[in-house]
Amino acid sequence: MLLVDALRGVAGLEVLTGEAAELRRHTRFELGGPCLLLADAHSEAAFVEAYRRLQASISPWTTIGRGTNLIVSDRGYEGAILRYSASSIRAEGLRVKVDAGAELNGFIDYANARGLAGLEAMAGVPGWLGAAIYGNAGAYGQSIHQRVQSVRFFDGAELREFDNAECGFRYRHSKFKDNKDWQILSAVFQFDASEAAALVERSRAIRAARDAKFPPSMRCAGSIFKNLLLKDLPADAATRIPAGRIIEGKVPAGWFLEQVGAKGMRVGGIEVADYHANLIYNAGGGTAAQLVELLDELKRRVFTEFGFRLEEEVQFVGF
Ligand SMILES: Cc1cc2nc3c(=O)[nH]c(=O)nc-3n(C[C@H](O)[C@H](O)[C@H](O)COP(=O)(O)OP(=O)(O)OC[C@H]3O[C@@H](n4cnc5c(N)ncnc54)[C@H](O)[C@@H]3O)c2cc1C
Repeated sequence: MLLVDALRGVAGLEVLTGEAAELRRHTRFELGGPCLLLADAHSEAAFVEAYRRLQASISPWTTIGRGTNLIVSDRGYEGAILRYSASSIRAEGLRVKVDAGAELNGFIDYANARGLAGLEAMAGVPGWLGAAIYGNAGAYGQSIHQRVQSVRFFDGAELREFDNAECGFRYRHSKFKDNKDWQILSAVFQFDASEAAALVERSRAIRAARDAKFPPSMRCAGSIFKNLLLKDLPADAATRIPAGRIIEGKVPAGWFLEQVGAKGMRVGGIEVADYHANLIYNAGGGTAAQLVELLDELKRRVFTEFGFRLEEEVQFVGF
């Protein structure tokens, strides 16, 4: 049975095919070939039904969010891509329930305007809420896990709920990363009460600083490699790091990349920013193959110089 037929008749599901399903249109890097179809589920029932039907089909399939942290291969993805795009946000006192397809930035603005403090420093982190939980996104000293009370997800068989401890959060990680077939549907957040105007101003200032580093039109995925925990580094490498570059037990990947001459490196249309060694972008006409070649070269240089392998923070599709 054709994939499109497998999904026919699912209420609340929007299916894109052909050019509309070119993945470069759905990723911030603007890289990646076509998939067989891209389906947006606008409700929990639609998502679960589509998931079950795709599970029963013989074609490969996977899920993505807003595509801000993805590298998709130039060949694209030979299967279906499912997105959960329900996006409602409902506050009850200091608690807010959010669907996984809500924009993280819209959620932060919603909380700020109601004097709900706790995620205002993450303003400017792009993408949808589900992926922010999946990757335990964070910025400027705040991270998602500090505010999550519970997460509702579909594990492929049934709908389940985890409390914060069960999510297994750690730096840029959650149990959902270890179980890629588990799909986050919604979450409840707990905030502190604060003054709305101060929260709005803090987010505004942080967005302005971030926009200078990551211009909104830049085709990139933010920082490409994960920062390093000092305790996990080989002793020789650890002793070479200037004290000022160690923040809360973490060392920016950019420091190691700077030491191996990454700034300004280029392969085809893919470049390392000349002001930030852990920021790689598609300057125009780049390909995923060029991006992977550049990442491999950077990892090789850091390994040769420091004896450990950098790990990508971005997720790969179709490789
Ligand atoms: C300019 C820029 C700056 C950035 N700055 C930061 C930063 O400061 N801090 C930070 O942490 N990140 C940062 N990022 C990375 C990115 O914003 C986050 O990783 C974000 O959470 C990705 O969201 P997305 O919806 O685009 O996910 P996608 O890129 O579409 O997907 C990422 C992963 O999440 C999984 N996923 C998506 N939705 C779900 C779901 N509902 N359930 C389970 N898994 C799911 C996907 O399968 C995929 O593996 C930055 C990115 C850019 C482009």
